[in-house]
Amino acid sequence: MYNVIIIGSGPAGLTAAIYAARANLKPLVISGMERGGQVTLTNDLENFPGFPDGIGGFEIYDLFEKQAVKFGAELVYDVVTEVDLKAEIKVVKTAEQIYQAKSVIIATGSNPNRLGIPGEDAFIGKGVSYCATCDGFFFNGKHVAVIGGGNSALDEGLFLTRYADKVTIIHRRDKLRADAILQERAQKNEKVVFIMDTVVSEIAGDNSVHTLKLKNVKDHHEFDYKVDGVFIFIGHSPNVSLVKNQLDLDEQNYIRTDRRTHTNLQGVFACGDVQDSIYRQAITAAGSGCQAAIEAEKFIAEFEGRKYPGK
Ligand code: NAP
Repeated sequence: MYNVIIIGSGPAGLTAAIYAARANLKPLVISGMERGGQVTLTNDLENFPGFPDGIGGFEIYDLFEKQAVKFGAELVYDVVTEVDLKAEIKVVKTAEQIYQAKSVIIATGSNPNRLGIPGEDAFIGKGVSYCATCDGFFFNGKHVAVIGGGNSALDEGLFLTRYADKVTIIHRRDKLRADAILQERAQKNEKVVFIMDTVVSEIAGDNSVHTLKLKNVKDHHEFDYKVDGVFIFIGHSPNVSLVKNQLDLDEQNYIRTDRRTHTNLQGVFACGDVQDSIYRQAITAAGSGCQAAIEAEKFIAEFEGRKYPGK
């Protein structure tokens, strides 16, 4: 029986693990399919305090993991298939194991949204990508399109200029959502061009992507646009499939928590992007992971009839 099982190994889950381990709770972290979560897809994290020169996404994940293990967290590289969170003793199942715990911290993060247009699924890995850090290298000297107008689209679009000769950012409105600093950098970059007020209706190709079918939403003009690849950055959806029938979700499907990371079930806490539709930053995820671990520690003290120190 574990004191606390943490599901997810992004900044939220691993910060929860560091705090829970330092509180001597010997937490178990079940990493999920993508160890480190979305932060590992970021090439250069420039806004995480303490790293004035930036730090690679995978590098910071590695540091989080080392720090958690150093204080006694146990890490398992596995995928949770089922949970039962309603009873006093929580049950967490993977394909091969059944774990029990007094408390559970859900830190399953979110995943990139899809456009849902013809050709998108068929060309994943053949020109369609959701990760510039992973796939940018394959587009050396090529022309790529980036779909979206938020921080991810511009950040990743700028990153792609390291490889591609031309990066076309295609956005459905006439105004970008991204922060001013990123807009300025993109506008100054000679490799970046913008197509505004435009949506993609189809991704076409043969062995790999060669054409996007575009439509201007104002004059309804439709045209073909030649590209070698397309990177899609149109927001994220929280990973709630494991818990959606047990935990309350908000209107946007994020886990509903109070300001102390409590869910509707006793002993179940949620942190990071799976419960945050607003900030979705590595640092806010880490902060909420800390909160969840402290709340779990208090809960376990009560569970065992002890008084939580400082309560
Ligand atoms: P986002 O801010 O939600 O932006 C999504 C973009 O995709 C928007 O421009 C949106 O258009 C567009 N979009 C959504 N659905 C679409 C569809 N079906 N077809 C075409 N376009 C569509 O998501 P994000 O850029 O992934 O950023 C997520 C969070 O991470 C934000 O809080 C962001 O600040 C943060 N982030 C920060 C950094 C950084 O600080 N450097 C880097 C990356 C991400 P509309 O504008 O018309 O809605």
